[in-house]
Amino acid sequence: MSKLGCKCGHVIRDQTDSLSYKAGFIPDKAFYPLYEEVYRNIGLFIESIKNNTRDEWIEAFFTSDYALLNLTDEQIVNDIFDRSYFETYRTMYQCENCGRIHIQEQRTNYFFSFLPDSAEARNVLDA
Ligand SMILES: [Zn+2]
Repeated sequence: MSKLGCKCGHVIRDQTDSLSYKAGFIPDKAFYPLYEEVYRNIGLFIESIKNNTRDEWIEAFFTSDYALLNLTDEQIVNDIFDRSYFETYRTMYQCENCGRIHIQEQRTNYFFSFLPDSAEARNVLDA
């Protein structure tokens, strides 16, 4: 996403990393299934290394083009995690002008907005 219009008229921009008004989240019902899938796939990757079938496993899990990238084990584990994580990950933004929270709906990618009842609720997504 690059821009999201808020009801107050402000345009929320997402064109860089480490935004103070953006957060990613995993819905609670998806949290444990996500990690179970990641742990299972990392375990299968480790088994393929032990069994000397690493290249075949990488090609089957990802693609033959991906297998040609000759990535390190660390990069492979990172991509195993990312593949599951970004299927589940959703985004929320807080409008810097009015404080509204915009939460991404999973199936449609529509953003529902919620207006805080206190001005002190601004910057709740900042680390
Ligand atoms: Zn706003």
